[in-house]
Amino acid sequence: MKQKAPYVPLGKFPTPIEKLRRLAKKIGTDHLYVKQDGLSGTLYGGNKIRSLEFLLGDALRQKAGEVITVGFAGSNHALATAVYARKLGLKCTSMLMPQPNAQYVRQNLLLSYVCGAEIHQYRHLTALYLQTFLQILQRRLKYGKVPYMIPSGGSSPLGTVGYVNAGFELREQVEEGLIVEPGQVFIPLGTMGTAVGLTLGLKAAGLKTRVISVRVVDAKLGNKKKFIKLFYETRELIHSLDPSFPKVDLSESSIDIRHEFYGQQHARFTKEGMAAVNLVEKSDGIRLDGTYTGKTMAALIDHLKKQDSKDMVTLFWNTYNARDFSDTVKGVDYHHLPRCFHRYFEEDVQPLDNHHSD
Ligand SMILES: *Cc1c(COP(=O)(O)O)cnc(C)c1O
Repeated sequence: MKQKAPYVPLGKFPTPIEKLRRLAKKIGTDHLYVKQDGLSGTLYGGNKIRSLEFLLGDALRQKAGEVITVGFAGSNHALATAVYARKLGLKCTSMLMPQPNAQYVRQNLLLSYVCGAEIHQYRHLTALYLQTFLQILQRRLKYGKVPYMIPSGGSSPLGTVGYVNAGFELREQVEEGLIVEPGQVFIPLGTMGTAVGLTLGLKAAGLKTRVISVRVVDAKLGNKKKFIKLFYETRELIHSLDPSFPKVDLSESSIDIRHEFYGQQHARFTKEGMAAVNLVEKSDGIRLDGTYTGKTMAALIDHLKKQDSKDMVTLFWNTYNARDFSDTVKGVDYHHLPRCFHRYFEEDVQPLDNHHSD
């Protein structure tokens, strides 16, 4: 019997492709495009919707009433999980770790609260794991069933399938003539499901587009070894569901990871990153962030300025949510959040976060 992957539709696909006309002119190329995954959801967009369609689909299939996920305090993934779990009537618990303060951390925490998510914060990873285990045990004793566990960033092989589809989506848009087959695509590298899934999807779809992944997490989390492991685990998962899925390979030398734009720490903004955020907002009216997409855009600009690839079609894959939810959280009092989160509202944001006050 052929098994189908668990799936629940949450997003709006395909996401649009647009030309970045003014930015292109500034860096002296003609062929710069953006894939607007920020518009992937009507409530909350960004890259995490694609993986959640499979992960929350799996939670529903397993008849879980609750999901638990992990991340940093301002995690877009934890927020996306809270938003879409609620939409499906699932309870969401997020186990979080401290991170550098920023406006978006406040916004994300407030929206998680509005969505009814239960949020906790632990200083150390071991405490977080232990507490997660205890939460699961407690649910087991109380309700006789365990919550569905979603790994950080949703980057399990099943979650990664969402971005394999994104590769096929891009091929369709190439076939429709919305863009010429890109020579290169720039994408952030965090927990890696996004970049790995896209790499696998593009290869399986027969595109030759080179994926350039810009690392925005510690090298212990984002590296070639783990990239390869997730690639093959995802390929095997899909192949087991659909034997016609091609067994494409990934050589280590074809993985292109840029390390120089990371800065000092995850979610610690960089000068180059924020310069890119401001530039793109001014030139083409697109809002990027300091943790992921700003650093990635900085890498793209640097690459196009230095390398002679100005005639190559370059695609910037925008993974950052583009939906404005400031009205929803306006007037929400942060004192409703657990005490350990108050400091994000009482202490200053990091110095380079001069960008928005929404
Ligand atoms: C999570 C996230 C990423 C990184 O995706 P991974 O699959 O974790 O590598 C990139 N951009 C944004 C805006 C994100 O929230």
